[in-house]
Amino acid sequence: MRVEIVAVGTELLLGQIADTNSQWLGEQLAASGLTSQYHQHVGDNHQRIVATFRTALARSDALIVCGGLGPTQDDITRAAIAEVMNVPLDRDEDLVEVIRAMFQSRGRAMPDNNLLQADVPRGAAVIAQRRGTAPGLICPLGQKVIYAVPGVPYEMTEMFERAILPDLLDRERADGRTSVIRSRVLRTWGASESGLAEVLNDRFAELEVDSRVTIAFLASGIEGIKVRLTARGDDSAHADQLLADEEVVVRRIIGDSLGDIIFATDDDTMEDAIAQRLVARGLTLAVAESVTGGLTASRLVNVVGASNWFRGGVVSYATEVKHNLLGVADGPVVCAETAEQMARGVRELLGSDVGLSITGVAGPEEQDGQRPGTVFVGIAVGDRVEHVALHLPGDRPRIRAYSSISALDALRRVLDQNTPQ
Ligand code: ATP
Ligand code: MG
Repeated sequence: MRVEIVAVGTELLLGQIADTNSQWLGEQLAASGLTSQYHQHVGDNHQRIVATFRTALARSDALIVCGGLGPTQDDITRAAIAEVMNVPLDRDEDLVEVIRAMFQSRGRAMPDNNLLQADVPRGAAVIAQRRGTAPGLICPLGQKVIYAVPGVPYEMTEMFERAILPDLLDRERADGRTSVIRSRVLRTWGASESGLAEVLNDRFAELEVDSRVTIAFLASGIEGIKVRLTARGDDSAHADQLLADEEVVVRRIIGDSLGDIIFATDDDTMEDAIAQRLVARGLTLAVAESVTGGLTASRLVNVVGASNWFRGGVVSYATEVKHNLLGVADGPVVCAETAEQMARGVRELLGSDVGLSITGVAGPEEQDGQRPGTVFVGIAVGDRVEHVALHLPGDRPRIRAYSSISALDALRRVLDQNTPQ
C-alpha cells in the first residue's frame, strides 16, 4: 500500500501553523510498515483540493486527508471528495441527531452550519466522532480509498488509531502483504552523529546484505541522537525477535567504542532515566542550579510521580545565595569546588539522599575568567561528592539546555556506578 497524506488548510501554506499532523501520520505509517512516498499541502480552495486528490490518486493507493471537515465556509474537503468520487453529498440524518445531541449535552443550540458536517459523499462510510463534532470518512474509489479526518490533532490521532490504521492493515492483508514492522529507538547522549556513524559503519555494511533490519540516525537537537532500529518480519513474533537480536548487537558495538551513552529507549527521556534509577534504589534528589536557573528542576517534574523522589531545587543565581543558603565558601563561583559545595549544600538543606548542582557560564561574557560554555556539575550521593567539568558549545539558550541534560546524564552515570542495577 502506498499511502499519501494530504494536509488541507491555507494556514499551513502561510506558515501560521506547522503541519504536525503529517509528521505524526508519517511516523505512524512507517512504524506500521506502510509506505508513504508523498505528502501534499493545499489551501482551502475547491479546485486546487480536487486537483491535489487526483494527483495523489494517480500514484498512491490510499489518501489520508486531514483538515477542512469543520462547519465553516472554508471547510470544503467533503465537497471535494464527492467531486472526485463523482457522487452527490447526502445528508445523514443519524449524524444530524448525533451532532445535535453533542450540542445539547453542552447546553448549546446547534448552529445550522453544523448540519454540513452530516453531509456524506454517497458510498462513503462514516468514522464516528468521539472528540469533536466532525465525523471522519472512509471513501472507496474502486480499489483505492480516501480517508478524511478533522485537522484538530486530538481528533485526528484518535480516528487514525481507531479506524484508519486497522482499515489500512486489513487492505494490506487482503493483498497478501503481511510483513510486520517493529522499531526501537536507542537514545544516546554525548556522541556526535558522525562518531556514531563511524562506529556502526561495519554493521551498516553487513545489514545491506540482509535488508530485514535497518539502522537510522535521528539528530534530535538538545535531546541527543537517536538510533532507530527497524525490523521487518513475517509476523509480529518474527519482527520482535529480529529487533531484539539487532538491539543486542548494536548496544555491544556502541558500548565497546563509546561507553555508556545509551540513556533510554523509545519515548523515554533523560528525566525518565533518572526517575527509574532513583525509584529502583529508593533515593531522593534535590538540585541546586545557577546557570540553568531552574531548567533542571522543571525537567524533573515532567515525570509523573516525581513527588515520590524529587525534594525540590534552589536557584542559587546570586553569589550571596550560594554562600548563605548552600554554604559555598568565598572565591570564584564557576569552579569544581563550588559545584561540589552546592551539591552537598542542597542535599543537606532539602534533606535528600542525592544532591545535584550546576554552575557555569552561559555567556556571552566571560565570568571568573572562564569562557562561555564552561560548566561544572556537582553530584553528592550520601557523603561522597564528585564533579564533572564540561565545555559546551552554542549560544546562551543552548548552553543552558545542554548544561541541564548533561548534568542529568552525569547523575545517571554516577547512580549506575555507585549502585549497580
Ligand atoms: P474544525 O472542525 O475544528 O474546523 P477541521 O477538520 O475543519 O476541524 P481545520 O479547520 O482545517 O480542521 O483545522 C482545525 C485546527 O486544527 C486548525 O486551526 C489547527 O489548529 C489544527 N490543524 C489543522 N491542520 C493541521 C495540521 N496539518 N497539523 C497540525 N494542526 C493542524
Ligand atoms: Mg475548520
